[in-house]
Amino acid sequence: MPKTVHIIGAGLSGLSTAVRLSNAGLNVQVHEATQYAGGRCRSYFDAATNLTIDNGNHLLLSGNHHARAYARAIGTEAGLVGPARAQFPFVDLSTGQRWQLDLGDGRLPTWVFDEARRVPDTGLLDYLKLAPLIWAGAGKLVGNTIPCEGTLYQRLVQPLLLAALNCDPPEGSAGLAGAIVRETLLAGGQACRPLIARDGLSAVLVDPAVKLLEAKGASLRFMHELRALASSGDRVNELNFGDDRIALGADDAVVLAVPPRPATALLPGLQGPTKFRAIVNAHFRIDPPRDAVPILGVVGGLVEWLFAFPQRLSITISNGDRLVDMPREELAQAIWRDVCKAGGVQGELPPWQIVRERRATFESTPEQNALRPGPVTEWKNLFLAGDWTDTGLPATIEGSIRSGDRAADLALARRPA
Ligand SMILES: Cc1cc2nc3c(=O)[nH]c(=O)nc-3n(C[C@H](O)[C@H](O)[C@H](O)COP(=O)(O)OP(=O)(O)OC[C@H]3O[C@@H](n4cnc5c(N)ncnc54)[C@H](O)[C@@H]3O)c2cc1C
Repeated sequence: MPKTVHIIGAGLSGLSTAVRLSNAGLNVQVHEATQYAGGRCRSYFDAATNLTIDNGNHLLLSGNHHARAYARAIGTEAGLVGPARAQFPFVDLSTGQRWQLDLGDGRLPTWVFDEARRVPDTGLLDYLKLAPLIWAGAGKLVGNTIPCEGTLYQRLVQPLLLAALNCDPPEGSAGLAGAIVRETLLAGGQACRPLIARDGLSAVLVDPAVKLLEAKGASLRFMHELRALASSGDRVNELNFGDDRIALGADDAVVLAVPPRPATALLPGLQGPTKFRAIVNAHFRIDPPRDAVPILGVVGGLVEWLFAFPQRLSITISNGDRLVDMPREELAQAIWRDVCKAGGVQGELPPWQIVRERRATFESTPEQNALRPGPVTEWKNLFLAGDWTDTGLPATIEGSIRSGDRAADLALARRPA
């Protein structure tokens, strides 16, 4: 086993690597370029709404086993909250129709046989036409694999795949979409219960990990950006942080858990995704109506998901590149109109904030998916982690934590030089 593992990046992939290795008794040092942990999954105080908000509403599903095991390891699994059954209320803003998809709590997708529980105006045959996704290869397009039109597509497949792939589903990788379908819809309602970090992403998924690591004696250095790595033969032997350099011992290892752009800059010759898509979130300071559901699927409008938090309504729009240059006030007004219709609220625009994460995820197309590297590099003591590495999943918390667990296991399995 290595003596010390240096983890570069304190996003969820780096934190999950660090937690797993610390729990295994290794000496862990985390180096993060910014002043905070959490990367693309974090909370901060927002002066415009006078609330602590998340950079984006993050939805997990009960079938995200690595994410839940990570939360368990840091003592916060109870902070991921959701309904007892996999029920998804929806509204169609173009018709005003409301319905609830009820996936139940079983291990098989038996709900498709029950007309009362499936999407209104859909039949069993519509669901059977989704089957080719289950075994589709990563190089195939969703649009060439299943019908991307009709009621089932508009009311279920499009919202689910848009959220998971963060691109227009027909242009997405059928292999990645198939992994989502296999791990969620096909695994029955017990794998599909929606879970959110109601007290905030940092409170549930980030800060407790930092505390646990500190308690176990790990070091976390912020504003400590890795600028270069030096190697000798098949080993990395020095980490260069600009002002200081760390020489690696023969038994030390490194896990690079940074996004693809810094990773490919640090390791010339490494391939990674080069195209990204935005996600837009808006937060409105308003008490949700008493009967507001925690998560509402919205079709037929600009908004895609409406989340009710204490003192706040928040929305998510995926594949949001078309909105990144729209004037903020105009966008806030347009979103607020949808929120009023979907959420049953009214009135002037309350205090609001819009967060546009331009590079929220890599583009889940077959072309970009083919650029994802595995965790092993040409250096025996250097492993890769991150949602963009080849996890078989799109860029998600589950993929990110899975990659962190995998890198940790590789570091643990490494024999001393
Ligand atoms: C708005 C938004 C909404 C999302 N919604 C969902 C959702 O609903 N469900 C879901 O499952 N996923 C969602 N995701 C995706 C999820 O947030 C990511 O998959 C996950 O957070 C990625 O974690 P990571 O550790 O792989 O990468 P990152 O979070 O990017 O972490 C990388 C870290 O490396 C640091 N770093 C970079 N370069 C260096 C360097 N040279 N030296 C040291 N440190 C460095 C960065 O500062 C960062 O902290 C969403 C993402 C966004 C942006």
